[in-house]
Amino acid sequence: MYLHGTSKINEQGHLEIGGCDTVALKEQYGTPLYIMDEQLIRQRCREYMDAFRATGMQFQVAYASKAFCTMAMCRLVEEEGLSLDVVSDGELYTAMQAGFPVERIHFHGNNKTPEELELALDAGIGCFVVDNLIELHLLNAIAAEKGLQPKILLRVTPGVEAHTHEFISTGQEDSKFGFDIGNGSAYEAVVQADQLSSVELLGLHSHIGSQIFEVDGFEVAAQRVAEFARQLQRDKGIYFSVINLGGGFGIRYTAEDSPLQVADYVQAIANSIQKNFADSDGAVPQIWIEPGRSIVGDAGTTLYTVGTSKDIPGIRKYVSVDGGMSDNPRTALYDAKYEAVIANRAHDDSSELVSVAGKCCESGDMLIWDIELAHPVSGDLLAVACTGAYNYSMASNYNRLRRPAVVLVSEGNSDVIVSRESYADLVGNDLVPARLQASAALRS
Ligand SMILES: *Cc1c(COP(=O)(O)O)cnc(C)c1O
Repeated sequence: MYLHGTSKINEQGHLEIGGCDTVALKEQYGTPLYIMDEQLIRQRCREYMDAFRATGMQFQVAYASKAFCTMAMCRLVEEEGLSLDVVSDGELYTAMQAGFPVERIHFHGNNKTPEELELALDAGIGCFVVDNLIELHLLNAIAAEKGLQPKILLRVTPGVEAHTHEFISTGQEDSKFGFDIGNGSAYEAVVQADQLSSVELLGLHSHIGSQIFEVDGFEVAAQRVAEFARQLQRDKGIYFSVINLGGGFGIRYTAEDSPLQVADYVQAIANSIQKNFADSDGAVPQIWIEPGRSIVGDAGTTLYTVGTSKDIPGIRKYVSVDGGMSDNPRTALYDAKYEAVIANRAHDDSSELVSVAGKCCESGDMLIWDIELAHPVSGDLLAVACTGAYNYSMASNYNRLRRPAVVLVSEGNSDVIVSRESYADLVGNDLVPARLQASAALRS
């Protein structure tokens, strides 16, 4: 298994992360357990901030909190000087409870409710990324009532869809998000937003995909957004001070993945914005970006205890662990690929081909199809790498499994940042109407 961040194999042959032996972490906290490498999270934040500082441009790097949103994570991101994207009242509440500076919070989403808009307006958040005309007019009306003028970006779809190694360039976008540049709806939205008195239009936002390994999709998106911006300068005298090019920067899950360095993405984006605005009569806008996965993805590892196995001769051997799609739905949802190692015998030869299954009642509940491991047996500890993004944040209580704890490790210390759910948590919101109460006779 590729060793990310501070991960290493110690003298006992155990996987160690952040100076903490995973065998000891299992003893202390149990499994399944999410382990987050603090140093690697901070390093990724700094790579983005340093790369932008080197460009000399004005910028904001907003961590897309949906990738992994807890109060401790908000604190880390705040300390590193990033901004924060939220997509719901729940993410906003988490950030506010963590004391995240509201002026550095950006509110996304294609269906923000009136209650969410109010909550965010009352909090005084830094920017709304407005997705559609209904939201635009609703926000303007609520802000007018409150005597406020929130800053907004308009989310546009530039007709570029990027995935991993290719991007698809389409004139029209079939997407639930944003205003289409190609069919004129983005133009109309800018004109309308510009006339509203209770919003302040800062600029445009686009997000072209995720797990992207090349810069060309970003370059084409930057070019289309810039052309669109300059058309509005010429036609309407509307000037934008911000261009937000979204997130989607890829990470290495397995040897098949070949992401660029953070600095390469940042430089390409900065260059294309500078190039496309070089001969415009306005100032070059600020660049904002929104990495999620690439801040936390490779900093996360999930520890499981191996339980049963089933060998089907000539077909495959299933090895089951004490978690599954309830803590990591990505394999079931996206056919995601992961690397893993037997953490208590990490030096042993990985020579047995197995598939790692979860314990949920669902044939699709698989974590890894076809991986070579060191003959996993009951009681072994399995570490799955690169689970920091879209694992905890997508976890569920399917089969009433309790969601795992999250520990933050650094320099030999481990701190629980999310407690393991208790049985009491599982039934905490359950209510039983009086007519369904078990009679005393039945209960005893
Ligand atoms: C999901 C999302 C991001 C973050 O994407 P990553 O692939 O995690 O970097 C950024 N911006 C928007 C609008 C998103 O929807």
